[in-house]
Amino acid sequence: MAQTTPNQKTRWTFQWKELYEEIIDTGICTGCAGCVISCPHDVIGYEHEPGAYKPFHLEEELGDSDCIHGQKGCTSCTRACPRFRDWETEADQHLFGRVRSDNEVAGIYKDILLTRASDDFVYEIGQDGGLVSAILIWCLENGVVDGALVSHLEGGEGGWKATPALATDREGVLAGAGSRYTYSANTLAYPQAVEKGLKDLALVGMGCQTSSPPIMWHRKIGKTGKAFKLNIGLLCSKSFDDSLFDELFAIKYGIVKEEIAKMNIKGVFQVWMKNGDYHEINLKECHAWTREGCTTCPDFAAEHADISTGGIGNKSDWTLTVVRTPLGREIIMKMLQEGVIEARPGDADPAAIELMHRLSKKSRERWPKFAYSAQASRVTIKSKGGTSS
Ligand SMILES: Cc1cc2nc3c(=O)[nH]c(=O)nc-3n(C[C@H](O)[C@H](O)[C@H](O)COP(=O)(O)OP(=O)(O)OC[C@H]3O[C@@H](n4cnc5c(N)ncnc54)[C@H](O)[C@@H]3O)c2cc1C
Ligand code: SF4
Ligand code: SF4
Repeated sequence: MAQTTPNQKTRWTFQWKELYEEIIDTGICTGCAGCVISCPHDVIGYEHEPGAYKPFHLEEELGDSDCIHGQKGCTSCTRACPRFRDWETEADQHLFGRVRSDNEVAGIYKDILLTRASDDFVYEIGQDGGLVSAILIWCLENGVVDGALVSHLEGGEGGWKATPALATDREGVLAGAGSRYTYSANTLAYPQAVEKGLKDLALVGMGCQTSSPPIMWHRKIGKTGKAFKLNIGLLCSKSFDDSLFDELFAIKYGIVKEEIAKMNIKGVFQVWMKNGDYHEINLKECHAWTREGCTTCPDFAAEHADISTGGIGNKSDWTLTVVRTPLGREIIMKMLQEGVIEARPGDADPAAIELMHRLSKKSRERWPKFAYSAQASRVTIKSKGGTSS
């Protein structure tokens, strides 16, 4: 596979052909759908189904692996892909003006806090402290954004198929509160936002999705990138294929999907039922249903979000909150001043921070050796007198 480095002086000519060969065909595609929403010719489809969660080319003219528009110079899909070539260095540079050091395994950040929504309803309905929902509601009500790309449940309550959705008010935000551990490419709600004429969007998603806007900005993708104003990350070590429900939960444990009230992962898969029953399922048993796109993912801590959020540690009713950018800090500070959220210092739960670093380090080991290596590329460029990092 070609591994030449596009430094700042290289003309960006990479199109679907390179995306297909280097990312999709090799299995390092995360299924984030950044390429799908960025394609100006609408020729990239997406299969949001068990065993898939991948983009595919819709035009048959040149087969699965090449694109006629790409041959004529269109490069939008590779400009949006948060796994293509030197994605990590580029997103770091764009957001923080520097590349993370080797010991910043969880990415670059400013503050770590434990937070929770002051509104009892938002707190109760949220997965951990309800911070993500509180931020979205506050940002929508204060004109920071006019829409949020989140995940809802297909079929409403009782349907556990996580599905991309657009939220424009408190009700829409709360309809998505809580975590589903199957995949939802929230970016796919972008066309709904465009249809409504919305211009300032928040994206909620795991690291695979929240690295996409910074990559779009850095690679100057234009319109699609400009719409993303706020990026809220969810810490994540894996998501599962939807077939987990039918093939493991139902067959082995008799868990009826429609009767599940809430799920969480805290060392084990915890499942609360509407009738009050509770199940714990060993995570090792679930491994076989890990979504393919997650098996090579190196980003546990959603390292390119404005604010990354998680539920690890001893204070499980608080959201572990990693504030990364000036925008992230401004929002958290204003919400604190207005009493919309409560916060404690991250030091109140040192085990959570230690675990975040440990899990981040573990995820980094998954990035395959054949894939693009920023470290290797930096050496190559230097010896050629190039300009990159
Ligand atoms: C697949 C997945 C894996 C995770 N793994 C970990 C982990 O290993 N360790 C850890 O500390 N935290 C993990 N989290 C994050 C954690 O579960 C909470 O989402 C986070 O702490 C925020 O909690 P909250 O109460 O502030 O958010 P809430 O107010 O409950 O809001 C949660 C937001 O997440 C969105 N969302 C829910 N499910 C999905 C989904 N499947 N895909 C995309 N968006 C979704 C909702 O639309 C909502 O906007 C994971 C989350 C997901 C979705
Ligand atoms: S990682 Fe995302 S942008 Fe890259 S090919 Fe896969 S779906 Fe497209
Ligand atoms: S592990 Fe999480 S962040 Fe990584 S690809 Fe899977 S869902 Fe995305």
